[in-house]
Amino acid sequence: MMSEMRRVTAIRNGTVIDHIPSGRAMQVIRILRIDTSRATPVSLVMNVPSDKLGRKDVLKIEDRELSREELDRLALIAPNASIAIIRNHSVAEKMVVELTEDLVNIATCTFSNCITKNDREPLPQRLRIFSHDPLEIRCYYCGKVQEIDELIENIL
Ligand SMILES: [Zn+2]
Repeated sequence: MMSEMRRVTAIRNGTVIDHIPSGRAMQVIRILRIDTSRATPVSLVMNVPSDKLGRKDVLKIEDRELSREELDRLALIAPNASIAIIRNHSVAEKMVVELTEDLVNIATCTFSNCITKNDREPLPQRLRIFSHDPLEIRCYYCGKVQEIDELIENIL
């Protein structure tokens, strides 16, 4: 009975994002800039028991395949996510998310006095990963530690 309840409708074409940390699925929707007011059907399952994460969220997005650049963004909040691209009801491609050391033009620095806020001297937005576990992200220019929740607000 429980397994019946957890099952999500299979999709014909699109992307399945599995192993999202529990409670982060809405942030994934946001970081991928999925416009939920538009017609894209999105199924979201929260708090599914997982061997790897304890609890996880799973997201299914119809008629959309994630690009490499989107996977880099996703890595910020779901570094252990696994991605399946579905075509014609079957898994066409599997991808893993990888957090690169350098995050270029993914999000802007959260420090208001950062040099990157100076419009007269345009610089690429550049954040660096200092530690994976626990995750520590700093601005390449000012060195300020970036809070993930704040960073998500600053996604480009
Ligand atoms: Zn900065």
